[in-house]
Amino acid sequence: MLRIASAAASHPGLRRDQNEDAYCIRADLGLYLVADGMGGHAAGEVASRLAVDTIESFIERTRQATDLDEWPAYDPAYGIEGNRLRMAFTLANRRLSEAATGDAALRGMATTASAALVGDRSIVIAHVGDSRIYRWRNGALEQLTLDHSWVGDRVRAGILTESDARQHPWRNVVTRALAGGDDPQVDIATLDVQNGDRLLLCSDGLSGVVPQARVEELLSQESSLESTCQALVDAANAAGGPDNITVAILRADVA
Ligand code: CA
Repeated sequence: MLRIASAAASHPGLRRDQNEDAYCIRADLGLYLVADGMGGHAAGEVASRLAVDTIESFIERTRQATDLDEWPAYDPAYGIEGNRLRMAFTLANRRLSEAATGDAALRGMATTASAALVGDRSIVIAHVGDSRIYRWRNGALEQLTLDHSWVGDRVRAGILTESDARQHPWRNVVTRALAGGDDPQVDIATLDVQNGDRLLLCSDGLSGVVPQARVEELLSQESSLESTCQALVDAANAAGGPDNITVAILRADVA
């Protein structure tokens, strides 16, 4: 039996008027989701909110579905939870497309999405873009998602360091996003869960600003999940708060 405790915080940062990040925490659905919107004017806000709402309502609608494996889009490689997330992301992408078609001001809007869906014994994660999911286990922080970004490709190729990537003028360029158009390629993974594991979901307003060592230091402090979320937001703002910051933390208790 897997029980999850969670907390989240979101802040516009110190240099932007709007918060184009969106998130949802739905303990009743086992759904935890962070999205970071992009687009001119208020379009980024629309993109992330539309994606979160679409994914949330799809997960809610399919919570009792027993025939999911008969759906045409079902891919046996990902299991039920993985398929629910994959279909939810695909639907969100189509909704973005429809919204942008109907409103010229929304053309070009896009959003990242990083989600965790809790099952009976495992947690499935899915992501598109550069919002990250980390696992904190036995005092070590491990990044579970690969950034779909221009700098992320170059960090993996050994051309840039993580620290170079945080400074790079192209650090905000994502190579995959929910942006309308073709169905998105969604990375999906099933996690085994150990008692005390924590997952950190965050937008790049945290991970692109605060060095990982500082994040580890804050996670290692004995405090409530709420205080830890606030401390992470404060750390990003202490580093200049150049971007919107969203963090969600889940702690697993395995009985
Ligand atoms: Ca961002």
